[in-house]
Amino acid sequence: MPAQGAFVLSGIGRLVTNDPELGAGVLGELADAAVVVQDGRVAWVGASSDAPAVDRLIDVGGRAVVPGFVDAHTHLVFAGERVEEFEARMAGQPWSAGGIAATVGATRAASKEELIRRVEHLGSELLSQGTTTVEVKSGYGLDVAHEVRLLEVARTVTEERTFLGAHVVPPEFAHDRDGYVRLVAGAMLEEAAPLARWVDAFCEAGAFDVEECRTVLLAGAAHGLGLRLHANQLGWSPGIQLACELGAASVDHCTHLRPADIDALASSGTVATLVPGAEFSTRSPYAPARSLLDAGVTVALATDCNPGTSYTTSMPFVIALAVRELHLSPAEALWAATAGGAASLRRNDVGRLRPGARADLVVLDAPHPAHLAYRPGVPLAWLVVKDGKVVAGSG
Ligand SMILES: [Zn+2]
Repeated sequence: MPAQGAFVLSGIGRLVTNDPELGAGVLGELADAAVVVQDGRVAWVGASSDAPAVDRLIDVGGRAVVPGFVDAHTHLVFAGERVEEFEARMAGQPWSAGGIAATVGATRAASKEELIRRVEHLGSELLSQGTTTVEVKSGYGLDVAHEVRLLEVARTVTEERTFLGAHVVPPEFAHDRDGYVRLVAGAMLEEAAPLARWVDAFCEAGAFDVEECRTVLLAGAAHGLGLRLHANQLGWSPGIQLACELGAASVDHCTHLRPADIDALASSGTVATLVPGAEFSTRSPYAPARSLLDAGVTVALATDCNPGTSYTTSMPFVIALAVRELHLSPAEALWAATAGGAASLRRNDVGRLRPGARADLVVLDAPHPAHLAYRPGVPLAWLVVKDGKVVAGSG
């Protein structure tokens, strides 16, 4: 009996499942494969010739199929762009955390409708490139009402929402940073927590020090939020150690590391989420990804999409950067952009194509998944499926 409402993708030249029990290598690759999708989930994975009969068949003609990308670090809700700042930086001016204030001003001034329109636009941009799960942070409001508004806007594109009141100290608290930390960990968190799954802080010179971040993260944990942290982007700090000590799901950036940081990550359950788009766009040294991987650290890749330091929604671009600049193999980069992102968000229903997982996948207009890095800048998302529905693509 054919299963009702199901469809099969067949004629898959190479299928990446990210499950070593289903196929070869770390990517769990299968050749000449098929995937059966039913009720938004993967119902079956195996050889095309063994695929069960279902009502609808989509033959992908030998193309590669990979899990939908999981972008575990974005700042997608904002108004205003900072192209002049980018131009100045490319002309040699150094980057500092202060530019965030410009986006805070523009974002506070924008209407909620304008913010929704913008985030929907960026949301469809990333979906069309194959990202089917995205984390979105607040952090451009920096007072109770504006932070709450950003999390409400983020709800239009994702369930993975992060409260980042501790992004920078806003101008009105320039002479009272302790007062601002108390506000973030108190009244702001109180209002934001019901709208968020995660709490995050920017641990960096010019933003917050490690003790201020500890205060915010512990307060977030007390409200039931999972922990994430921006750390060691511009210079070394004990931020990585703090994230590992507090059992954060992810510590992000990880550019300036000492051996003890790598050891702490390797012996913790904290994922290192790397964002090479930020280094690309600030012309900064890249994170020591090879040292992390060789030490056994779980690595994720994300876009860090934001208007100041990484204005890209493209996970394929990040994969290409990770291969060229971070020295990941194409397979390691693809894993980090899918299963790695899922680990960073502590999700086991995305990032893998195995029975029971969400049917979130990308059919690439290419015979091999390594084309994501081999053909940089070329749109390869031929068909994008999210929750079992075709949501983008020309296939
Ligand atoms: Zn960030």
